[in-house]
Parts: sequence; C-alpha cells; structure tokens
Amino acid sequence: MSEQTVIHQPDYDVIVIGGGMVGAATALGMAKAGLRVMLVEKLAPSLVWSESMPYQVRVSALTRASENILRNLGAWEGIQARRAHPFVAMHIWESLGGEETHLSAQEVGAPNLGFVVENSVIQAALWEKCQQHKQIEIILEDNLVSLTLTEKNTENSENCQNSQSCISVLPEVHLEKRGILSARLIVGADGAFSQVRHMANIGLDSHDYGQCAVVGCVKTEKSHEDTCWQRYTPDGPFAFLAMDQNVSSIAWYLPLEKMQWALNLDDADFARAVTEASGERLGQVIEVAERGAFTLVRRHAQQYVKPGLALVGDAAHTIHPQAGQGVNLGLLDASALIEVVTQAHEKSKPIGHYAVLRKYERWRKGDNVVVQRSMEFFDGLFRQQPGVQTQLRQAAMPILNRLKPMKHWLIEEALYGREPIPKYAKVNH
Ligand SMILES: Cc1cc2nc3c(=O)[nH]c(=O)nc-3n(C[C@H](O)[C@H](O)[C@H](O)COP(=O)(O)OP(=O)(O)OC[C@H]3O[C@@H](n4cnc5c(N)ncnc54)[C@H](O)[C@@H]3O)c2cc1C
Repeated sequence: MSEQTVIHQPDYDVIVIGGGMVGAATALGMAKAGLRVMLVEKLAPSLVWSESMPYQVRVSALTRASENILRNLGAWEGIQARRAHPFVAMHIWESLGGEETHLSAQEVGAPNLGFVVENSVIQAALWEKCQQHKQIEIILEDNLVSLTLTEKNTENSENCQNSQSCISVLPEVHLEKRGILSARLIVGADGAFSQVRHMANIGLDSHDYGQCAVVGCVKTEKSHEDTCWQRYTPDGPFAFLAMDQNVSSIAWYLPLEKMQWALNLDDADFARAVTEASGERLGQVIEVAERGAFTLVRRHAQQYVKPGLALVGDAAHTIHPQAGQGVNLGLLDASALIEVVTQAHEKSKPIGHYAVLRKYERWRKGDNVVVQRSMEFFDGLFRQQPGVQTQLRQAAMPILNRLKPMKHWLIEEALYGREPIPKYAKVNH
C-alpha cells in the first residue's frame, strides 16, 4: 500500500476521552475551530444546580489565564451564574515564626488574584456549552476497550504536502457499547490514571510525596477577608481558600500515615484539629462539611504525544497541589493543543500528524516541568525541621517582601502563566 493511500474517512476529526474540566474544554475549543468532535465520559456529570446545594469537597483556585480560557470558551457566564468567589490576596506564613508575606491584587493593579470555584461548577458550565454545540457528540457511560494508533513514522513534515499524504492508518478507539470509531486525533483527558496513556504504551515517571491532602469546606469564626491563607508547618502546608461569607475550603497537607486519623475524627474533633493546624488565624472553626482526602503523587508522562494521539491535563501530569496549579496547567495544555491543531486545520494539514503534535508537546512539557519542580522545591524547603533551611526561608521572606519588582513578577507569572501564552488564555481571543 502506498503512502498516499487513505484507508477510510474518519468518523470524527477529534475523539476526546474524558470529560472532566480539561477534556470538556478541549472538546469545546476543537469544535469552535470547526472540527467534528466526539466526547466520551464514563461518569455522567450532574448539571442540576441550586444555590442551596452544599459546597463540594473539590475546588480549584483559578488563575486569570484560566478565567480567560473559560471566558473565551463561553463557559464563564455559566460559572458565575452558579458560584465563584474572587480572592484579592494571599497571605503566607510559617508556624515556626519569622516574617510573613502578603501578596495582593492591588500591588499589581488587578481586581483580584483569581477565583475559587468548585470543580463540579467548572465542569457543569463547560458541559452545558458542549451539549449546545452542534459539532460535538457526547457518549456517556461507555468503557474504553482498546486503542489503535498509527505506528508509521511520518515525522518529517516536509513530506506532508496535503492532509492525505501523511495518513496511512487512522487512530481508532474501541468502546464497549458503541464499537470501533476512528478519528484524525485522539485526545487522552482521562485523568491521573489515564487508560489512554496506558493503552498507548506511554511510560510514566512518578514520585510518591508520602503526603495526603485533606479537603472540604469549613465555617470560621472570623472572616477570610477574601484572602487565601497558607501556613507552613513541619507536617506540610495548611490553606484556607476563600469561598463564601466566613466559609473557606481547606487544603490540609499531612503525612500519609495521618490520613485515616483525619478522616475518622468526628466533626467536633475535626474542627478542633483544623483550628489548631491553621494557627487559629481565622479564629475557631465552627462548622465542618463533608471532607475527602487524596494521596499526593507527582506523575509525568514520558511523552505527551504520539502520531494521532495527545495527552492533556492530569493524564499528562499531576503536581503537588499546594499552589493550586493542576487544572490551571491542564487548561493551558488544552489551549495550546487547540491552537496548534487549529493552525494545522486552517492550513489543511493533518491534525494528528506527529510534527503538528510535537509543537504542542514542546510548548507545554517544559512549562509543566518547571511548575512541578518549583512546587517540590517549596515543599522540601518548608517541610524541613528547624535548622539551616529554617534560617534560609526565614531570610527569604523579608527579601521577597522588600524586592517589589520580584514580588510583582511572581504574582503576574502565577496569574497569567509563562510566555508564550496560548491565545485562548489571553483576553478576548
Ligand atoms: C487536593 C487537591 C487539591 C487541588 N487543588 C487545585 C487547585 O486549587 N487548583 C488547580 O488548578 N488544581 C488543583 N488540583 C488539581 C486538579 O484537581 C486536577 O489537576 C484536575 O482535576 C485535572 O483535571 P482533568 O480534567 O485533567 O482530570 P480529571 O478531573 O481527573 O477528569 C478526568 C475525567 O475523565 C473521566 N474518565 C476517566 N477514565 C475514563 C475513560 N476510560 N473513559 C471515559 N472517561 C474517563 C473521569 O470520569 C473524569 O471525568 C488539586 C488536586 C488535589 C488532589
């Protein structure tokens, strides 16, 4: 069979496996570029909403870049119509003493430093838009049985004169109920335990932090003042993320062996333990809601792409969540992938071609590594027992407080992401 032969037309341009926040954003962006998309999600998300619904266990602190992406995708209105809470400052301090650091939106002339939003709210707003888009077909509650990829090496893009000359076999997914479906590009957005990554034989570098994060919402005696509060202790950080009036979501990092202890505490003891972990910064914890715990593992896929396949979000990487960057990085992945695929599509180039997808990988992998490693650096620095590291970090805080340009640069990097920023992450794409 010659290289020019096309075996059959694909059923879709793009098949996205996994309709979490990152997968739904990817599907929407691809459809907005005029591509025919199939979105496969094994668990139907709940789109039912009422203001009286209790706060969900999982929340995300969204950066300005993520807000822009969600606005440009048309999902921000749906988020604001449900609930999203802006925070205007971050306050960081250490249980062992020393100078405290305060980062505020005012310092950089911004209205806020981001929004704290429940994950289910972000997903529901994106799903609403996916359901309305005529280019998107949704398949719910089906299981991925296998994946077949183009193995032919067509790395040299010079050989690709038109969209057909580079394709010898189309990638296919085999779903338990729907059967075999083909696409020009398959996107694995199926989370940290990605089946797509596994089926594509993509290796994983991982590191167990030996830590867990206990999360959930609590009501405190004092107001959070629209601020996210982070206290470093020898066990790990403790954070309050501002939600509603006197309601904050907590992220309490503990050694793994304390996970069951924290989950098994009754509400009164849990409230007391959280009050203590927070150094009583917001006074007593007076009410606690449902809680959950996650073990923390750094994962990084050895490749983000193969011919006909790309991984995005947690399927490609998971990081220590202390700076709340996971879904923010995932949304940047989605935006970068949408951009390189859209460019190829507009030039009638094959969107699943390795050279096209490698642009995405080169763009995002380095950035994700930098963020992963800086989170580890901070975690290591702050988890040390009293000693040289304590003196180092106690010296670092005042320097950061006084070096205004460095402080402003840090705030802006955290808000907008690192250059080059995908178009979707900019205002009014
Ligand atoms: C304690 C904690 C706190 C965090 N806080 C923050 C924060 O403040 N800010 C932030 O940016 N990030 C945060 N993160 C990280 C963030 O939650 C993740 O990065 C984010 O959820 C990843 O989104 P995703 O869409 O890539 O994956 P997921 O949210 O895991 O979604 C994957 C989707 O794929 C579906 N799926 C799985 N397998 C299949 C299959 N075979 N077929 C079809 N569908 C499938 C799943 O049902 C799911 O809907 C935190 C993480 C933790 C653990």
